Amino acid sequence: MRYHALIVGAGPAGTTAARYIAQQGLAALVIEQQRIPRVKPCGGALTHRALDLLPKGAESQFQEHPHQWTFQGTGQPPVTLSRDQAYCHIVERQYFDQSLSEAAERAGATVHDGESVQKIGTQDQGVEIVTTEARYHADYLIGADGAYGPTARLMHIPRPRHGAALETEVVPPHSIWERYAGRVEVHIGPYSWGYAWVIPRNGILNIGVGSFRSNTFPLKQAFYQFVEQILGHRNVTALAHPLPYRLSFARPSQGRVLLAGDAAGLMDAFSAEGIYSALRSGAMAGNAVVKAVTKNVPLNDYDHQIYQEFWPSLKSAIKMGLLFYPLPGFWSKFFVKNQSLLSDYLDVAMGDLPYHVLQQHTEKALLTRRPAALSWRR
Ligand SMILES: Cc1cc2nc3c(=O)[nH]c(=O)nc-3n(C[C@H](O)[C@H](O)[C@H](O)COP(=O)(O)OP(=O)(O)OC[C@H]3O[C@@H](n4cnc5c(N)ncnc54)[C@H](O)[C@@H]3O)c2cc1C
Repeated sequence: MRYHALIVGAGPAGTTAARYIAQQGLAALVIEQQRIPRVKPCGGALTHRALDLLPKGAESQFQEHPHQWTFQGTGQPPVTLSRDQAYCHIVERQYFDQSLSEAAERAGATVHDGESVQKIGTQDQGVEIVTTEARYHADYLIGADGAYGPTARLMHIPRPRHGAALETEVVPPHSIWERYAGRVEVHIGPYSWGYAWVIPRNGILNIGVGSFRSNTFPLKQAFYQFVEQILGHRNVTALAHPLPYRLSFARPSQGRVLLAGDAAGLMDAFSAEGIYSALRSGAMAGNAVVKAVTKNVPLNDYDHQIYQEFWPSLKSAIKMGLLFYPLPGFWSKFFVKNQSLLSDYLDVAMGDLPYHVLQQHTEKALLTRRPAALSWRR
């Protein structure tokens, strides 16, 4: 059988693309190398802008609705901010992703799991892929195969840079759980170009450390130190995963192949939020294929759309990282005295403030406090 679209990867990008294509009556096949449900290291925090992109019933996957957010700087007391409404929703990625895959199947897409894509060939009239099980043909291919996936490499599309994160999930004693229920905690300081987090979910704590420049400090050591700080011991199983991001735009399509989500390097290079961009770019890639099949619209329209949709905020995220990460001592002190900027950050997560405004406020704060910034440089 020939498909309209082959999709590599059943993360949020791939299954959303498949759902959008199948909903228009076109034939979509998703190929996922792991068995579904598969584990994906992730905090599982969904910001408000992601909600509109979810299929019906996906809210049943929300396991925690944090109303509080704590910022812990270096050598300063923690700052906790509260909101009347949940500022994000926490999902367990393996079952959340499984529910997205099932939604794609309900829409009419086919999903093959436990099958790995090995080769990709493109011709004028279509694409061919070879997997561990078979050979498939289609009009178009969507590479939604995440940070490690083969599509960008095989198509010679410039790959994103990689930071890295280490995380663990534990069921803590009740006394520790009580401290975190309904509250996300973020720590900065000894994590070069990154941060550590505690994210609660239904009696479980997701504890991790991530860095966009993970080669500049001992990530593993920092991770186990942080785990001990939170749990009082280091006896946990750690999972590692790259944080793929870009510092400049790269076209996410080539010929009949489009990239979406982490494969396209659309992760926010300040916060490491990537589920929203996976869902949104997956939907856009799906729509681009539908338009190409039904209306002959060229695929490079997709490049333009991705640029317009993501680059303003991804650029702000890059600038935020450049302002924030080199000066953890300054920001630690600043946020204790002036919490409005922290509050802006929550407003961005809630979709109440555009990213570039947060960036402007951060630049202003830095410029008006520059001498202090320099004296607090670490
Ligand atoms: C530790 C950590 C914590 C994070 N926390 C958050 C958070 O709280 N909130 C947030 O918004 N983002 C978070 N992110 C980012 C988020 O997890 C990713 O941006 C998101 O998963 C990207 O989705 P995707 O669909 O593009 O790729 P993925 O979810 O990575 O899916 C890609 C899929 O492709 C499959 N694949 C790869 N190669 C092949 C092949 N050859 N053949 C077939 N299949 C293949 C993989 O098995 C995988 O299932 C976090 C990331 C990390 C590492």
